[in-house]
Amino acid sequence: MALTELSDRLRAAVQRERLVDTAVRLVAVPSPTSDAAAVSACLAQLLAADGFAVERPAGGHPSAAAVVVRLDSGRPGRTLQFDGHLDTVHLPFVAPQVVDGKITGSGAADMKSGVAAAVEALRALRDAGLPAAGSILFVAHELHEAPWGLGEQLNALIAAGLHGDAVLIPEPMCDVLPVAGRGAATWKVTFRRAGPPVHEVMRPANEPSVIAAGARFIEDLGQLSNRLSTLTHPIAGSESVFVGQVHSGEIYNQYPQECWLEGTRRWLPEADASAVEREFRTMADVVAQTSGTQALVDWRLVRGAFALATSDPIVTTFQAAYSQQAGRELAQGRKAFVDDGNSFWSIARVPSITHGPLAAGQHTVNEWASIDDLVRVAHLYAHVAALYCPGSVP
Ligand SMILES: [Zn+2]
Repeated sequence: MALTELSDRLRAAVQRERLVDTAVRLVAVPSPTSDAAAVSACLAQLLAADGFAVERPAGGHPSAAAVVVRLDSGRPGRTLQFDGHLDTVHLPFVAPQVVDGKITGSGAADMKSGVAAAVEALRALRDAGLPAAGSILFVAHELHEAPWGLGEQLNALIAAGLHGDAVLIPEPMCDVLPVAGRGAATWKVTFRRAGPPVHEVMRPANEPSVIAAGARFIEDLGQLSNRLSTLTHPIAGSESVFVGQVHSGEIYNQYPQECWLEGTRRWLPEADASAVEREFRTMADVVAQTSGTQALVDWRLVRGAFALATSDPIVTTFQAAYSQQAGRELAQGRKAFVDDGNSFWSIARVPSITHGPLAAGQHTVNEWASIDDLVRVAHLYAHVAALYCPGSVP
């Protein structure tokens, strides 16, 4: 079947009203991260009512098990995954509305509308009798938004082998095809001394200074930062270490017990994430030893780094379908923020493309997503799936 004919057939199978209705229903159910059981149940019900067999793997988070559907052709071939998260950041709930060609409300941009577009692509494929070979794996999950979640549920599902050969992620990003992105961790270091807080004139001789330890650590991180800025990638940028806050002391003349600092560390795809962590912990330990303090290091991996081989079939089929819609290929660029694509690559070396609707206001109370663009994304996903899982089309 010619590319245009296949594209037209799938465009006709995408139903705008059905897509909007799904998005509105998902936005209507509040789902702050770690409390998204109700929206997962809502989506599972909606898919079951639509005739899909729904699986609910826990992924280590049974209170809001993931929602999984497989659209299997019954013929051998590749598996393309559509993946999205249903949880939202912790902000006051905003109910859904459909106004001026947009869906608004909590999670409308990030990323319930995108999930609805993926659901619509799944329906369009089924209604068109596709894919011709292989299968589509749809997964919606919880525990995405930091700091309330760190991707634990998805990481567990990937580690357990529940993933496709490639993944499409409808996060609100449509201006570039991200081919590289840095990994990220947040850290908190606390320097402590054993003695109680005392008036500064009453402190014992040689009592360690936690503030001096903190200052020394900041200086060391400054030197590390200079060194990291020379480690660069043509698209992803450079490695970094960043101090965002420093706290110590209660009043001006009391000798404090602890000094804590918090910040981030980002690294490039070729770096070894565990070596990055080890280096950081060693730096804090050295400061503690030389200052006579104790260092407590809390290191939280947000997501590993991300890279995408542009020769991979997911990229070539995506660009073929995208060109059919837009008349040109999508330009390559960087992934500025970490997302679930980082997990697929860093845990299982599964390639993924983050591409979703024109939308804005993520992590605010003013989220929206363009309905025209959601229809475009649903059509694009269905078309990519048909090309990625080819066969003799019935
Ligand atoms: Zn998101």
